[in-house]
Amino acid sequence: MGTVLGHWRTLRDAFVRFPAVRSAHQCHGSEVHSVTGRPNRREWTITDGVDGLLTDQVGVLLTVTVADCIPIYLIDPTRAICALLHAGWRGTSAGILGRGVSLMGQVGCRVSDIIMYLGAGICGSCYEVGSDVMKALGLQTIGGGPWEVDLRAELSTQARATGLENIFTSQKCSFEDDEVFFSHRRGGVSEGRMIAFMGFPLSRPLPNR
Ligand SMILES: [Zn+2]
Repeated sequence: MGTVLGHWRTLRDAFVRFPAVRSAHQCHGSEVHSVTGRPNRREWTITDGVDGLLTDQVGVLLTVTVADCIPIYLIDPTRAICALLHAGWRGTSAGILGRGVSLMGQVGCRVSDIIMYLGAGICGSCYEVGSDVMKALGLQTIGGGPWEVDLRAELSTQARATGLENIFTSQKCSFEDDEVFFSHRRGGVSEGRMIAFMGFPLSRPLPNR
């Protein structure tokens, strides 16, 4: 645990123009929390029960942790609003992407201005699932299982359905590339997690940190 906190400290120290680090204490749900209020001191806040965070404030670094699940980066560069979501099969089937895009709409984003990037995660060739997951995702099961699911393809389909036009997808597979990525499927519960992060930096660090 000390090591994990030490890694977080290193991350925080590396991002001096982000005094506020906000983390989602993920539960594979679809809740997205809005981070408002300009940070005026250094803080690290973990919000329980959410799998996504949104902010329109500079100096706020949004973070989620992943290891096979997909980090979804959403940004409206014209309004400087961004959201970062964590999506495994549960979040994908629960519609976390739609929730994130909807929340961005509520704070003034036009869907056509939003750019989505789907980051490193398990690929469609490596992600074998049972019929429960296929059913949850609304996918047909043909033949005997297990079946392969491409979460990023599913999320891209959902994104287009919500009207997103600017969709970019990493081809990196967390399961295959053990030199670079942690993988929950490869390493089990003791495996580490990657931190995905996004935000708009302050123009200069806060004084007297
Ligand atoms: Zn793969």
